[in-house]
Parts: sequence; C-alpha cells; structure tokens
Amino acid sequence: MKQSIYHQLHLTSLEVALPQLLQEASTQQWTYETLLQRALTTELEGREQKAIARRLKAARLPSAKTLEGFDFSFQPSLSERRLRELADLSFVRTCTNIVLLGPPGTGKTHLSVALANRALTAGHSVLFTTLSELAHALSTASHPGLVRSRLRHYITPSVLVIDEVGYTTLSQEQARYFFELVTARYEHGSIILTSNTSFASWGTLLGDDVLATALLDRLLHHAEVIAINGRSYRMKERQMDRAGVPAPAEATLSATGARAAGVGASA
Ligand code: ADP
Ligand code: MG
Repeated sequence: MKQSIYHQLHLTSLEVALPQLLQEASTQQWTYETLLQRALTTELEGREQKAIARRLKAARLPSAKTLEGFDFSFQPSLSERRLRELADLSFVRTCTNIVLLGPPGTGKTHLSVALANRALTAGHSVLFTTLSELAHALSTASHPGLVRSRLRHYITPSVLVIDEVGYTTLSQEQARYFFELVTARYEHGSIILTSNTSFASWGTLLGDDVLATALLDRLLHHAEVIAINGRSYRMKERQMDRAGVPAPAEATLSATGARAAGVGASA
C-alpha cells in the first residue's frame, strides 16, 4: 500500500492536523503564507513534543514531581530563590553538580526529579537512577565490554540523577565503578546526587577512605551543595491522613469541626 506523501516526508503531526488547519484557513481566510507558516509550526511543535516524550521515557524518572508542586513554606531551611535559580539550568551548561543532603522525607528525590524534568523539557538528555541500582548494574555485567557499555549509558546523558546515596554500602568493585563514573562525568556532565549521610561517612559507604576523598574531590569541585534540615513531609502526610480519616469513635468530634480546626492549627 502506498503511503501518503506526509508519511513519506515524516510530517506525521501535520498529517493529523491538516484537515482542521484547512478548515480554519478557509473560514479565517488565511493567506497562503499564513497557512504554510501554521502548517510548518504545527509539524515543528509536534516534533518537539515527541522528542520531549522520548527523552522523558529514556530518563526513567520515578514520578512527575515539579518545582511548582513543592511547598517551600514547609521547608524553611531551603532557599526557594536558590532552587529557582538552579531551575534556569545554567548548572547543566556549566557541568555543575547538585548535591542535596538531608534526612528522609525532606524532598530530596522530589527536587531532583523536578530539576531533571526541567532539564529534559529544555532539550537536555537525562537519566535517573539510585546508587544501588547503578552499582548493581555495573557489578553484574558479565564481561568487560558490558561494563563499558553500561558505564557509557550513565556517562552519556547531560544530567545524571543518582538518588539515595547512603542507604547501601558498596563492594570494593562497586565503589571503584562509582568512582570511575564520577571521574568520567567530571567537567563533562552534571550529576544531581541525593544523600541522607554526611560526607564524613562516605569512607564507610565506599569501604575506602582514600577513594572516597578522591571521589568527593571531583564531585564537589564544581557543585552546589544544598542541605535540607527540616521535618519529613511523609510524616506530615501521615498525620494528615490520620486526621482526615477519623476512626468511628472520633466521628462525633470530627462532626463538631473541632478536630478539623485542630489539624489546621498544627499543620
Ligand atoms: P526524600 O527523597 O528526601 O526522602 P521525597 O522527595 O521522596 O523525600 O519526599 C517524600 C514525599 O513527600 C514525596 O511524595 C514528595 O513529593 C513529598 N514532599 C516532600 N517535601 C515536600 C514539600 N516541601 N512540598 C511538597 N511535597 C513534598
Ligand atoms: Mg528519596
């Protein structure tokens, strides 16, 4: 079966939109030039959307968190202005790393995903992983060629998110691969890294103080370190859940509105 001329020229977005465009052109009495402009713009926008969708799929982000969805008032130790500055993505262009430190539930993963999302919408390639996933992928490669190709997978994207550094200690081999990766990306691409442990514990994490010092030296040479010293948002949500779904015995209290008022005061 012969494909349409639009299909042959890969003008797939235009092909879909054309009937409506022609209809509009006729009712609005567009000039030929306007019609051509609108047709080409439609195709271009369609291509950009598809490219974003492709990058989003390749990035393997665990959620669709955004900066707009982050409640800065809940985390006063965090400078909203600083985060907004980072969201202008100059850190990607200058290959600067971002290190988010803080206890569980303080929004480290949320913010890393939000920044990654910004980056891929702006046209940068992104990959999200956790340190344990990364270490596992590299240490289970069955031959050196596979290690190289897996390392390349983590080296190539403009932005690599390494989440949850500190939850698992690494084997000697895994620590060496982690070091190799950070070295390969040094001044070539950004890393957004999140951790619940202080840098002082990285020797234990990597099982090697000298390696940890060398790795941190490269990681932090061009880096924005953001410490979040606040409460867990998860705990807040849990308290809200408990408050929002009252047990039967609490129903009368809830009906008076006293309970809801109490929640408002504590939140
Ligand atoms: P961490 O990675 O520091 O353990 P997360 O980023 O996973 O924490 O946050 C836990 C949950 O709470 C997520 O669903 C996240 O979207 C939400 N969250 C954390 N902090 C905030 C905040 N300040 N505003 C809105 N949601 C938040
Ligand atoms: Mg997290």
